[in-house]
Amino acid sequence: MTTATIIDGKNFAARLRASIAGHTAQLKAAHGFTPGLAVVLVGDDPASQIYVRNKGLQAREVGMNSFEHRLPATTTQAELLARIADLNQDPAVNGILVQLPLPAQIDAQAVIEAIAVSKDVDGFHPLNAGLLAVGGTGMVPCTPLGCLMLLKDRLGNLAGQRAVVLGRSNIVGKPIAALLLRENCTVTLAHSRTRDLAEECRRADILVAAVGKAQMVKGDWIKPGATVIDVGINRIPTPDGKGQLVGDVEFDSAVQVAGAITPVPGGVGPMTIACLLLNTLTAACRQQGIPAPEVKPAAE
Ligand code: NDP
Repeated sequence: MTTATIIDGKNFAARLRASIAGHTAQLKAAHGFTPGLAVVLVGDDPASQIYVRNKGLQAREVGMNSFEHRLPATTTQAELLARIADLNQDPAVNGILVQLPLPAQIDAQAVIEAIAVSKDVDGFHPLNAGLLAVGGTGMVPCTPLGCLMLLKDRLGNLAGQRAVVLGRSNIVGKPIAALLLRENCTVTLAHSRTRDLAEECRRADILVAAVGKAQMVKGDWIKPGATVIDVGINRIPTPDGKGQLVGDVEFDSAVQVAGAITPVPGGVGPMTIACLLLNTLTAACRQQGIPAPEVKPAAE
């Protein structure tokens, strides 16, 4: 029995951040300019607080300026929109990220649409989503971009590969499908109404799971030798009460069949923040009229 290669997203993301740090230092030396990322957190959701802290920390680690805006859970939509309008105008801020989810009184879509398209480092603005769909140059959402980088690192040219993406959310599934189509894969986008889901998966050379259902994809859903990207982050109960993070793929059975697979944790997760920093660097260069560098991960 063969065992899949484990795709080490943690290592890849660390090397990508090292390379981003180098480009950031060059930008500072050559143009006297430091990219700035503003992260806005509304309320005190514990998971969001950890994400925001890590984003700020990693931005500073690569030499960028980090601006954290923590607003109370009672913030009104008008107050949040006013804060975004200020950040849109601030020349020190090149990227704006509003941490989701937002409290119920705020319309998340209206907030996303208020962010300046050029500073939308999450890539969620409808104009950036449209640019991705029509093949233009916009901001690509971070998790999908991270998935694509891992796939290209593993497989090289993706043209002609049969790709199945499980999940069609605007922030993960749809942009991943668009990116794979742009790479000339033959793409199937599956969702909760898909018939014969396991059968669809078995046809995939590339299987991307982004459903948010713990260990849903079993080993016998996977084509032998396929490359499996597990985006899911789910916490399942354990006897000691601490819980365990697992993906949307049943790792123990999948690893027996796949050619390569991302683990959870340590696969796609670390790529998301690394790609946020990459997008901030790209946004900063475009706003300054400087060609954005082609960033490759630093050597091992
Ligand atoms: P959403 O809940 O927005 O979307 C889930 C998608 O999965 C929907 O399209 C839904 O279909 C589909 N789906 C749900 N159940 C089934 C099923 N039984 N069979 C087939 N399809 C199903 O989730 P997100 O896209 O936001 O996130 C997906 C996962 O990725 C989550 O675990 C999340 O935590 C994780 N994630 C990880 C990130 C990272 O950095 N690694 C970043 C972002 C998300 P339908 O449209 O028909 O309802």
